[in-house]
Amino acid sequence: MDTFANMQTWGHEQVVFSHEPSCGYFGIIAIHDTTLGPSLGGTRVWPYESTDAALKDVLRLARGMTYKSAVAGLNLGGGKAVIVADPKRADRESLFRAHGRFVESLGGRYITAEDVGTSPTDMEFVKRETKHVAGLLNLSGDPSPVTGYGVYVGMKASAKMRWGKDSLEGKTVAIQGCGKVAYYLMQHLHAEGAKLVVSDIDKAKVAIAVEEFGATAVAVDAIFDVQADIFAPCALGGILNDDTIARLKVEIVAGGANNQLAEERHGKAVEARGILYAPDYVINGGGVINVYGELQGWTMDRAKRKAQEIYDTMIRVYTIAGRDGIPSFEAADRLAEERIASVRALKRMWLAGDR
Ligand code: NAD
Repeated sequence: MDTFANMQTWGHEQVVFSHEPSCGYFGIIAIHDTTLGPSLGGTRVWPYESTDAALKDVLRLARGMTYKSAVAGLNLGGGKAVIVADPKRADRESLFRAHGRFVESLGGRYITAEDVGTSPTDMEFVKRETKHVAGLLNLSGDPSPVTGYGVYVGMKASAKMRWGKDSLEGKTVAIQGCGKVAYYLMQHLHAEGAKLVVSDIDKAKVAIAVEEFGATAVAVDAIFDVQADIFAPCALGGILNDDTIARLKVEIVAGGANNQLAEERHGKAVEARGILYAPDYVINGGGVINVYGELQGWTMDRAKRKAQEIYDTMIRVYTIAGRDGIPSFEAADRLAEERIASVRALKRMWLAGDR
């Protein structure tokens, strides 16, 4: 893989490879774009089969964070880190303190947080070496309540776009996955009088949805065939693909899962079936809003108020899609790029703080 060619194609500013032999640390930090502020994104621990695989992942994820924070209206750029290791490794202090030292060496250009394979406890080790870390124990904590709330308001905006009013009362929502985000989403939907149909590979989680929210349970794979108004993917990525899109019997897809489109062309395929698609990184932005809130010292209520803006952002995305005749997932990218370009243009004027 030609790293510089990829950085040039995708617009990355900086990629840092780090090695600490004492604990066998091999890590990559990718900073995509810092026009809006310091780059922020989690640290993923994964046993990548090659350096190229790790690099490809970190470049893709860092770029995704630029877009996610930009549309969420945050003063943050996009970055990400990967550590090539077994996520179950026991010697976590040395691994994450080594990581913290490399994060610190970037002087605040990159702020880290937890991600796949890491936990708030790991971030406490990072914290011993750098202040450029969020998602710590006893601070903003689990982002799922804010994410679930953001998905709920984004779903209402999608309903407004599709049906002319945003009430979800009496609507049927098919939810894939009954995990943390889905739980808070279900709370709001149930309170508004929506009917829920759910699936999860974990039977205990399904039982909670049935008991607390009166949900109807279906088999794991049957969720794609449910006759409903809205399909809410809240489990895995890649679930909008050649097989599933053809099966959907809904008018809106709006859920919290990351990377819902197996490939970009599936964003067009969903819309070709007349289904309105809420771009994942816009509707699930509550998670990064929560982390930003921690950095700013916000309360959960303040973070939720910020997440409420997802409603207007979704409307803006759909409006751009209509204006430019493009699918909604491309409109989301355009909204992010327009915000970054407008802030970048402002920076042409010199201020005393600039050097
Ligand atoms: P979670 O682990 O609590 O929930 C995921 C659930 O999906 C689990 O209950 C799991 O058993 C279930 N699941 C796995 N495979 C399944 C399948 N084939 N069919 C049905 N259910 C299946 O995770 P979460 O924090 O709720 O996150 C859910 C999704 O939202 C993920 O894609 C995550 O990346 C994304 N997301 C989460 C947040 C957040 O704040 N937690 C923020 C942004 C995006």
